[in-house]
Amino acid sequence: MPRLIKKRAVADDGWTLLRNAASLAEVPDGVPVIVPLALWIERRAALHARGEVGVWLAPADDPRVLVPDLATLPLIAVDFPKFGDGRGYSTARLLRDRYGYRGELRAIGDVLRDQLFALSECGFDAFAIREDRDPVDALAGFDDFAAGVYTSTARTPRPWFRRRQAERPAAANEPQPTPRVAEVLARLHSIASSHAPAVLATAFGAEGMVLVDLIARNALPIRIVTLDTGRLPEETLALIDRVRERYGVPVDVYTPDTRALESFVAENGVNPFYRSVELREHCCALRKSQPLARALAGKGAWITGLRREQSAYRQETPFEEFDALHGLQKFNPLADWTWDEVWRYLRTNDVPYNALHDRGFPSIGCSPCTRAVQPGEDPRAGRWWWETSEHKECGLHRRPARRVAVEASAHPQAVTT
Ligand code: SF4
Repeated sequence: MPRLIKKRAVADDGWTLLRNAASLAEVPDGVPVIVPLALWIERRAALHARGEVGVWLAPADDPRVLVPDLATLPLIAVDFPKFGDGRGYSTARLLRDRYGYRGELRAIGDVLRDQLFALSECGFDAFAIREDRDPVDALAGFDDFAAGVYTSTARTPRPWFRRRQAERPAAANEPQPTPRVAEVLARLHSIASSHAPAVLATAFGAEGMVLVDLIARNALPIRIVTLDTGRLPEETLALIDRVRERYGVPVDVYTPDTRALESFVAENGVNPFYRSVELREHCCALRKSQPLARALAGKGAWITGLRREQSAYRQETPFEEFDALHGLQKFNPLADWTWDEVWRYLRTNDVPYNALHDRGFPSIGCSPCTRAVQPGEDPRAGRWWWETSEHKECGLHRRPARRVAVEASAHPQAVTT
């Protein structure tokens, strides 16, 4: 009998997983079975009548269709066809947090020791470890990140910063960083007046939202531009519309050249970036760099949310540099901000943010190229995680740009040229 991990112990698996069953004739009698969602939807009543039945969901399946059945379904399995496919995590959070499912939630497919902690944080309580791996060894995966993740999870609903606040009550009384915010605001005013037309180029990450909020609240003449690569997570797309609604400001969305993209996909497939750095960079060039070049054409300056703390590669990020590639000044007004400062600003000012931040994504890019990180990991470790280079960049921020660096933290007026 196959074995799996259940309730943090190795157990025999009494269920038969029917990966391809498309009709009742393919469902054996007398044993508990896990059927595909399509068969469940088509033959729900007949399956119910024949005994113990669970349902398995593919990454693209919408768990909402199971809502009427959740009270009676003893088991739902969520498939991970590939280790790096993170959609099942969202499915689990929806089932547990939003729809209140309390039955067995099982991870199936390419399930490895490294995922167990994160999967359990999302609400999974059973794990069918990949056949070529030993479930006994995989059990130790629960202890690999014993300190807990820093975002909210199904198992730990309060994110790290709230848990830390509870542990350090004095933190709630810390003064807000008004002078720090004023510094950034002064930089933005200066850029807007000296480098018009200036744009903020953002993917609406946490840092970008600080700048969006400051620009919109202060009605600064800085347009907001973003790149819709065609591979963005739904959460990012939802945030773009939320920004429009919340602030009433336009967001200029730039997209890749359709013909160039079609030809690239025809030649290399839809997900070629996993195969080589060259193909990944080519994809980034088509989906990001080229649309950015169009977004910056004719502009006086561009503004980013880069911070030195984000990665080793970014640790020398200046407040201002000349972007020789695009032929204009580039400003990074949050260069010296910490992650804590960013989140303090967002919380204090009730700024909307990308829902993926609550699921362990400090840095968010295209969906297939971004995954959650663990505490202590580089915040950008979840970007192109299969690559080993510490200089993982998509090309948008690659140096050298001829730098006319201005260390402006103490002299915000020095941002002007
Ligand atoms: Fe392509 Fe990934 Fe780069 Fe997005 S992040 S442009 S999907 S390689």
